[in-house]
Amino acid sequence: MSKTSYATTCSYCGVGCGITISKEKDGKIRLQGTPDHPVNQGQLCSKGRNLNYVLENQSERLFFPQMRISKGHELRRVSWDTAIERTTATFAALIRRFGPDSVGFYVSGQCLTEEYYYINKLVKGFIGTNNLDTNSRLCMSSAVTAYTLALGEDLVPPTYEDLDQADTLLVAGANPAWCHPILWRRVEALKERHPETKIIVIDPRRTQTASLADLHISIIPGTDALLFQVLGKLLIDLNYSDSTFLQHHVEGFETFKNTLSGINLTQASAECGSDLETLIQVAHWIGKSKNFMSLWSMGLNQSPQGVHKNLQLLNLHLLTGQIGKEGSGPFSLTGQPNAMGGREVGGLSTLLAAHRKLSDPSAREEVARFWGVEKINGAPGLTATQMIESLNSGKLKALWIICTNPMVSLPDSGLTERALQKARFLVVQDISVKNEAISYADVVLPAAGWGEKEGTMTNSERRISHLSAFAKPPGEALPDLEILQKFALKMGFRSLECTHPEEVFLEHAALTEGTRIDISGLNYSILKKNRGIRWPYPKSNPVEAKGLFLNKKFAHPDGKARMITFVPQKEHEERSPDFPLILTTGRIRDQWHTMTRTGLVQKLQQHIPLPFLEIHPEDASSRGIKEGDVVWVKGRRGEIKSRAKLSLDIRQGVVFLPMHWGKILGNSFAKTNRLTGNSTDPNSFQPDFKFSAVEVQPF
Ligand code: SF4
Repeated sequence: MSKTSYATTCSYCGVGCGITISKEKDGKIRLQGTPDHPVNQGQLCSKGRNLNYVLENQSERLFFPQMRISKGHELRRVSWDTAIERTTATFAALIRRFGPDSVGFYVSGQCLTEEYYYINKLVKGFIGTNNLDTNSRLCMSSAVTAYTLALGEDLVPPTYEDLDQADTLLVAGANPAWCHPILWRRVEALKERHPETKIIVIDPRRTQTASLADLHISIIPGTDALLFQVLGKLLIDLNYSDSTFLQHHVEGFETFKNTLSGINLTQASAECGSDLETLIQVAHWIGKSKNFMSLWSMGLNQSPQGVHKNLQLLNLHLLTGQIGKEGSGPFSLTGQPNAMGGREVGGLSTLLAAHRKLSDPSAREEVARFWGVEKINGAPGLTATQMIESLNSGKLKALWIICTNPMVSLPDSGLTERALQKARFLVVQDISVKNEAISYADVVLPAAGWGEKEGTMTNSERRISHLSAFAKPPGEALPDLEILQKFALKMGFRSLECTHPEEVFLEHAALTEGTRIDISGLNYSILKKNRGIRWPYPKSNPVEAKGLFLNKKFAHPDGKARMITFVPQKEHEERSPDFPLILTTGRIRDQWHTMTRTGLVQKLQQHIPLPFLEIHPEDASSRGIKEGDVVWVKGRRGEIKSRAKLSLDIRQGVVFLPMHWGKILGNSFAKTNRLTGNSTDPNSFQPDFKFSAVEVQPF
């Protein structure tokens, strides 16, 4: 590689594609997929291919720290010293007066692992509150909880290579063809090599992913857990359960079997929107499969029953012994590039570093000792939506938002806006002027973005990759780690001084030693040389890991997995004559989250330039709506305008809105999350973005 080449990793989805950057003499940045990269073998999707334009177009970057003298005043440019001094003084005063739990930090699955680790240590170890949560709460916390309950720890068993060997693949509540495109190309290649591979897609929309499927089940939203239970009962009735595996490696099979015995299969299938024959066919495919894999993401996770849905899918793998062997297993896909890294460092308000439990006194003692602090508070901190509720009620006084745009991405955006408006003190640390929370910020801190800072991320298959810094941050923007360090040192936490991100990485790695995610053998040179390494990678045995549980020893103390039939769950939002339709939300192919980066790229705008409401022609016609009409979408929390896109690909009774757009054409036009609610899964606290009761009317 020449001196002007850099190896890095794509900063969008959880696939984790390798990118090679070359800097031309004229300063232009060119990029290509890294040909020998273990994840993408040179391929990139439209978003990754255009990342260089995001660096080139600096028109919407934050260049300087800004501050308001007080609420109601304009933001004014200030020096870093002034901004940090004000932030520190205000946080310190609030903590003195109201205690550490009066402040909160809301971070992102796009933060680098070093930033994630550092802020966890700062907040949980030194400030003394666990009010640190992440937008990954919105993405995969239901999967985290379900893996922990069923397998004993949040450990994702399969790898991407396992996909190459699958002969039956069930994709539920995910559209990887658009949201994890390079991973999906692997599945397309598999299908081409082995056309006999069975692909089943469960989704209320016939997506691009479904177009490759042998069978698409247009499920009635909210019935996923029941559908998996029907499949479970069919697998038992058709003698596909693996009794040897169940006897030696699983607890809870008899309860599972007894609970399912009362299910009326025909009726339950209909409740899910399927006929029984179709589900019998699926059961035969799974039962006869040599290697059965499942892929899922937000369609299962973002639900008041997210954990339950995950568990029932995991049960199908445990029932058939299709876990802990090559080519099989339940594979939850992370939406964000570093949702997995966040999990590793304990980046949720309910976790501690290296998957340690906050509720475990010995884990708290161990981490406190390692960090050199007296103790760690054992009470779980506020989750993402709880922080908003707490700000709104006045209990939480200050919030620091890093690398996320909650006024567009959190559910019930009306409530989020009211809460941020009420914050006594709000800090927004971001790269973009488009972060809507800036409207209410007291202090705005300009951060360096992708390519302007160094660190690591972990993708969906546990591969830790290094990201290079190859461009200068614009204006006075700084890497997030440096910003946090300025604050920590000003607060007087001298031991939080560090000189390089690798120092933080090595500390994080040392804290994993002896755990199931032990990466004590890793450093930046190894990561760079290998273009990423899958954990664990302990110094005692520095060999890249394959799939997990290949020895069939699960992480519960007795080594057995658990089939869990029921966990506490909430109902989905009730429909009524006023709000008879189910709104589900999601991504489109060429945009990322709230478009603060992809929205800058002309080429990416061409795919779908404007927001739309996908609606079945029967639902449209009964409301007098035609293709392209501007419509009102109304729910219990608000209403927005959109443009109708009539499609037979969506189930009747269900409508779909993309989640990306914030304020355009006036505030009321497109913000999808004005309609979604604040209901969360009682176990994972993940909000529901997939089932809101709405009505659609002509404008
Ligand atoms: Fe980036 Fe994901 Fe596309 Fe790969 S698949 S290039 S990681 S957005």
